[in-house]
Amino acid sequence: MPDALVCGAGGFIGSHLVRRLKREGFWVRGVDLKFPEFAPTEADDFVQGDLRDQDFCRLVVDRGFDEVYQLAADMGGAGFVFTGENDADILHNSATINLNMLDACRRRRIKRIFYSSSACMYPAYNQENPENPLCSEESAYPAAPDSEYGWEKLFSEHLYLAFARNYGMEVRVARYHNIFGPEGTWRGGREKAPAALCRKIAQTPEDGEIEVWGDGQQTRSFLYIDECLEATCRLMRSDFPGPVNVGSEEMIRINDLAQMIAQVAGKKISIRHIPGPLGVRGRNSDNRLIREKLGWAPSQPLEKGVALTYAWISEQVARDRGGKPPIA
Ligand code: NAD
Repeated sequence: MPDALVCGAGGFIGSHLVRRLKREGFWVRGVDLKFPEFAPTEADDFVQGDLRDQDFCRLVVDRGFDEVYQLAADMGGAGFVFTGENDADILHNSATINLNMLDACRRRRIKRIFYSSSACMYPAYNQENPENPLCSEESAYPAAPDSEYGWEKLFSEHLYLAFARNYGMEVRVARYHNIFGPEGTWRGGREKAPAALCRKIAQTPEDGEIEVWGDGQQTRSFLYIDECLEATCRLMRSDFPGPVNVGSEEMIRINDLAQMIAQVAGKKISIRHIPGPLGVRGRNSDNRLIREKLGWAPSQPLEKGVALTYAWISEQVARDRGGKPPIA
């Protein structure tokens, strides 16, 4: 039976990945500071602990796993990443995790390790035009990410590629673009735009008003979790190391995303724009490289994932109102 180690298995993407690997027949060890919030983990073995601790990393990498996925990071949406208040933690915590995990994997002669980088590493100067942002893989340099989160991702990309070069490790690096879906953070300050908008719309009356940060004209693309996992597993098992974009090319203004969610909810909402942390003006995935190397592209429109996500978040909101604990 093949075995896999998933770091960050208590988080959004990690907990879904564990489920997928189990379905594929893997024995899976999950590692995280916390258990998944919304459903019991499906990992065969779940080790709770801190990957900033080098000894702990050596302990969990106790065999030559067939696949190691490093998804653990100190991260969140714009409200966490762009305020500046968490910069030191973001840089220190995530870089330490990556330094420790690579060292532990090298000692165990782990052959293949996946790293989840982010579209936030792309230069801000290419993302000022909301109609025409540039995020092709080779446009990464000269580097100028607009957040410390992006700088850490860029540093860690280099770290993984250097371990591949110097120690013969096989690394796979994906640059995720806004992954969303059920069982993701939907409140508390670390949630991202789709979850925050779903929550606000679920909490508002039929003809209510919601608040959106900025003028809502900023553009983004969003990739549904199942599509992300398909691309992740294909990349992991391919001969292509990356870095490569894993995202959707269906770019949408934040105002239009809010209206799409309202339509799914069957509500007529109005939007009040308020000041808030924003990030770049425009961002879209460029999927030419992943199409060429892996023959992969998202298979469903944004609206389908939005409907599934809204259904889950509105259920959480309803349970919360009724004083019931959240469920998957
Ligand atoms: P998440 O916050 O839900 O999951 C990350 C997990 O890492 C959390 O469960 C957290 O507890 C864990 N973690 C943090 N510090 C740890 C530590 N010191 N020791 C052990 N565990 C620790 O985030 P996610 O959305 O699942 O993202 C997974 C990865 O993908 C992250 O590296 C993230 O930067 C990257 N990414 C995500 C997106 C997205 O849209 N979700 C976009 C780009 C990149």
